[in-house]
Amino acid sequence: MLPPTVHLRPGADRRARAGHPWLYSNELAPTPAWRDHPPGAPALVCDARGRPLGVYALHPHTLLAGRLLAADPSTPIDAAFFAARLRAAAALRARLYPGGHHRLVHAEADGLPGLVIDRYGSTFAVQPNSAFADRHLPALLDALDAVCAPARILLRADSGARAAEGLPLHTDVLRGSPTDPIEIQENGATFVAHPTESQKTGWFFDQRENRAFIAGLAAGARALDVYSYAGGFGVLCAVRGAAHVTCVDRSAEAVERIAQAAAANAVAPRVLPVRAEAFTFLAADDAPPYDVVIADPPAFAKARKDVDPALRGYRKLARLAAARVAPGGLLLLGSCSHHVDPPAFFDTCAAGLHDAGRTARLLRSAGAGPDHPIHPALPESAYLKALVFQLD
Ligand code: SAH
Repeated sequence: MLPPTVHLRPGADRRARAGHPWLYSNELAPTPAWRDHPPGAPALVCDARGRPLGVYALHPHTLLAGRLLAADPSTPIDAAFFAARLRAAAALRARLYPGGHHRLVHAEADGLPGLVIDRYGSTFAVQPNSAFADRHLPALLDALDAVCAPARILLRADSGARAAEGLPLHTDVLRGSPTDPIEIQENGATFVAHPTESQKTGWFFDQRENRAFIAGLAAGARALDVYSYAGGFGVLCAVRGAAHVTCVDRSAEAVERIAQAAAANAVAPRVLPVRAEAFTFLAADDAPPYDVVIADPPAFAKARKDVDPALRGYRKLARLAAARVAPGGLLLLGSCSHHVDPPAFFDTCAAGLHDAGRTARLLRSAGAGPDHPIHPALPESAYLKALVFQLD
């Protein structure tokens, strides 16, 4: 069946012609057919003169109203379409991280708007974060079967982005055991997550290279990792030869995951998991200063209106963390807030170091690993920031 045709208002095709993959609701001509369009279903979009721009997934009730699926107007959005996109995404990841533990699909950058899939060997965590991904989930799962033959599929339909698209929030185990832990291989170490855990069911692959960088400088060090989650930074420091690592997280599950990862890598005697609030811990900790301090918190700004308080939070965190760093030691500060851009994050971290009375030099400023690619027209989707300073 041919998809319906929707038209843009006169002049509204400029951005699309320049390669931008999104259309906003005020750019679409308000016909009755458009207002009744099923959220996430494909349509052929034409400019005001009827010239085709491509096949888009459309949502009539959100500001982000159109997401490009294919520039060729004759492209059917069917099983073969999904299989081809998944095959291309999988081929790239096989080149990048042949071990099979990586982000397999990163939404628009992989031509699958709003779809995220993380792969842990034969376990796949699928996040349909758009009405498009949600509506086509059965076809996507069939394609995933054809391309990757998953033994286990976890559905994580619980992101804030889904709420914005009017979708219900839920999590589910679609295939395989609902209770077995997930084993994650990264940087030559083993980590553990749990699909039924209350907070996150998976792993944050985005910091892989940043973890390797700091852990590579941690041999013999005393290290502190706050907001440790499952120990991706801290336990790796121990694996790379840190003399002692304190891993702090306020969640009981995270503290258990840290202990499990330490045991799985035979470094438990050098890893101390601590359940505590990060700011409270940093302010009260009376251990000698550390050679390496890592602070990679959850997003402080969940929305644009949170940016100012978030910047104040990052500044305070930088100050408290810097105070725990020995002279000559290293400090990694991370942020996964989409709404805080890299220059603002750098400035607020620099202010926090100054507040702590420390001079420093920046050694590394990096984003997410290449399994989180960025669509060239959506630079704002590069959400991750990791800064590494040496402090005097
Ligand atoms: N650094 C981690 C990712 C952090 S995710 C990694 O590399 O994988 C955020 C973590 O911070 C979660 O585990 C959460 O439990 C923890 N957290 C959130 N708020 C906290 C707080 N106020 N104090 C301590 N930990 C907190």
